[in-house]
Amino acid sequence: MSQVCSKCGGTIIPGIATAIGLLGGAVDTHHESRLVFVQKGVPTSANPIKAISQGIVGVSSDKAYRLNASRCSSCGAVEFHADEEVRI
Ligand SMILES: [Zn+2]
Repeated sequence: MSQVCSKCGGTIIPGIATAIGLLGGAVDTHHESRLVFVQKGVPTSANPIKAISQGIVGVSSDKAYRLNASRCSSCGAVEFHADEEVRI
């Protein structure tokens, strides 16, 4: 199943967004994106009692999603997708 570019009608090719060579570390042999989109939440309080109450009432902490991408083979437009939640 191929997707069509919303800008020019060209074929969209899926890929990854990566910072290989910029951040150091081992290269991921599975070619997974090393970039994440972070939905900012409320930082956990350093006060243990406040931290527990944050957990009880369900205050959301940061959520991270692996940043994947796709590129149009005709015009080169790139779209990012962040649908896979990951732990950071
Ligand atoms: Zn296009």
